[in-house]
Amino acid sequence: MSQVFQIGGLELKAFSDGILKTSTEFVLGMEQPQAKSLTGANDEGAVFIPVNNFLFQKDGATVLIDAGAGDTMQATLGRLPANLASAGHGPETITHIILTHIHPDHANGLVDAAGAALFPNAEILVHAQEFDFWMAENDGSENDTIKRQRARNKINLAPYLDRVRRMRDGEVVLGCSPMLAPGHSPGHTCWRIGEGRDAFVAWGDLVHFSDIQIGHPDVAVKYDLDPDLARRSRLRMLDMVAADGLAVAGAHVAAPGLGYLTRRGTGYEFSAA
Ligand SMILES: [Zn+2]
Repeated sequence: MSQVFQIGGLELKAFSDGILKTSTEFVLGMEQPQAKSLTGANDEGAVFIPVNNFLFQKDGATVLIDAGAGDTMQATLGRLPANLASAGHGPETITHIILTHIHPDHANGLVDAAGAALFPNAEILVHAQEFDFWMAENDGSENDTIKRQRARNKINLAPYLDRVRRMRDGEVVLGCSPMLAPGHSPGHTCWRIGEGRDAFVAWGDLVHFSDIQIGHPDVAVKYDLDPDLARRSRLRMLDMVAADGLAVAGAHVAAPGLGYLTRRGTGYEFSAA
């Protein structure tokens, strides 16, 4: 199943990988009663957030934005390959995969349980700063989460290493240009895609709890490796997206995750495309 939008001179399709169970306990900078009320969480704080993926075709290429979780996280995830296939986009038809960052719900879906590439013809576009951090060797200063994610990310990227394009701000491939927005991960990236004023921004995990962080962009989450840096990146990007009237494609914004921002007080309001 997919939904189709005309944005940035492109036909943009939105696909779901499923929903991810999380909790308001991960919210930093807001009291629990308000966080629960804004998200509609139950008393324990359980919240279900969507995992959205996007696809467009340009100049003969078929470009997928993020690769989903595969079968590695929760039973409610891993739907992306079937949803792509049912829209005629079998894994072999994907020529490029843009990664907003290399975290489990965005990159574990690159490989199967044996570590083989699930997208046999896809080149990976990723910010050099993100790729280099996760592919580096540990130097002993890392916490267990980083060590675990580094090990997993090396499995995720292993079959693609001869077709990874490490990009930097200012470079453009297929109309896609990375804008570093670090904090959630060291090279977390928002991708500006499409032409001029009609472009859209695939903003990855700039926002996890869209019911909270769009209206209150100063709120961070415990998933952020560096919450203060993530907060500054979010404030800067939301300001740009709203000021320029760009469309947003959000990985964890209410499905299908496409829309526009308008300023409201000290935060923003999201309206679906
Ligand atoms: Zn995510």
